[in-house]
Amino acid sequence: DNCFYKNYNGVSMTQQSNSYIPSYLNAEDPGPWGIFLQQVDRVEPYLGELGKWVGTLKHPEKILVVDVPVRLDDGSIAHFEGYRVQHSLNCGPGKGGIRYHQDVTLSEVMALSAWMSIKTAVVGLPYGGAKGGIRFNPRDYSKSEVERITRRYINEISDFIGVEKDIPGPDVNTNAQTMAWMMDTYSMNAGKDCPGIVTGKPIAIGGSLGRVEATGRGVFIVGAAAAQDAGLDLCGARICIQGFGNVGSTAARLFTEAGARVIAVQDHTGSVYNPDGLQIDALIEHVAAHGGVAGKPNVQNISNDEFWEVQSDILIPAALEGQIHQGNAGRIRTRIIVEGANGPTTPEADDILANSGIIIVPDVLANAGGVTVSYFEWVQNSANFYWSEEEINQRLETIMDNAYKTLSATASEHRVTLRTAAFITACTRILQVRELRGLYP
Ligand code: GLU
Repeated sequence: DNCFYKNYNGVSMTQQSNSYIPSYLNAEDPGPWGIFLQQVDRVEPYLGELGKWVGTLKHPEKILVVDVPVRLDDGSIAHFEGYRVQHSLNCGPGKGGIRYHQDVTLSEVMALSAWMSIKTAVVGLPYGGAKGGIRFNPRDYSKSEVERITRRYINEISDFIGVEKDIPGPDVNTNAQTMAWMMDTYSMNAGKDCPGIVTGKPIAIGGSLGRVEATGRGVFIVGAAAAQDAGLDLCGARICIQGFGNVGSTAARLFTEAGARVIAVQDHTGSVYNPDGLQIDALIEHVAAHGGVAGKPNVQNISNDEFWEVQSDILIPAALEGQIHQGNAGRIRTRIIVEGANGPTTPEADDILANSGIIIVPDVLANAGGVTVSYFEWVQNSANFYWSEEEINQRLETIMDNAYKTLSATASEHRVTLRTAAFITACTRILQVRELRGLYP
């Protein structure tokens, strides 16, 4: 798993933002938060008068760090670091997932919360941005240990979150079961049922149809729209995917159903390749049984480095941050990158890829399908009225298609990349709200 993060340190941080790095981060290597600041720097020239509020985006509103003490199965007591960051609450309650990973840091959770603010504004949801995480590898603990870690963490952040304050959801290594434990813990503390406190729940306790595959479906919708604009026929198109969790595997299935061939997949266990197209259902079954793509029979194994050099039409990073950096960007041979992951491309790599004419559909649009259906779930919970899967998928498609059209119009108008267009659209929305609400006192 660690290999995902190694590329990131050092390589990506050669350029730095001029903005203030808070005293609690390392000014020399501010990590993912430094990347977010660089992205805001790039949008500042397009904000006009609203630029005077840009500092709001460069300072997360509230940060909570908690100790999570838990009794392990062997009777010993372990302590974990837990975080919840509310980057911006301008446009509504905070929204964003909770990540379980051994490399989670405060800087990372800060960046992820800021990308949630941008993302919810790009698709026009009435939310701010937030994110949480616990620094541990759930694969190293039993199911009941993970349950106790989850419940204690939610207990520690329960004053900070709320149905109308900040609504967590799933992220890397958390799923519907994790959300069920969170909802139960919060509801027990409150003495009443609070289904709207988290999204991504199992259907039986107020989850939404379509939520599990929503992020991958959104990746497919905007990927298909970008392919059409680029004159790329999906039928027979070659797709490479990094990360084969919920997002990567759903996107693989939907692109395959549309006639494309997924020719290479990389995950934390290795990289597999088949120029004729991998059998996605068989690969999903193999991953479910063995925990990763490694060891899959009837495919070619390639090195993790070779994966980035496979010639494709669409490349989908759907793992962690900082995967496409100045060390590998120049070797990537594809036409369109659709960012299923959050923050997979560093600003230096953005420039290298733009110079090679590669189109990037940025994370803050491409993976917004998940939080969009989370929003539908939260609305259904408060109305106590549940929609059909067809209705959900249709509304998702409309929102994603419209957001894509807005960004591509903004990109042509200002002659900028889709990422800068996304930041122009989102920051303008957030800062207009900031200006209307004004500063208290
Ligand atoms: N973790 C997902 C994201 O990065 C979704 C979060 C949510 O549904 O709140 O967008």
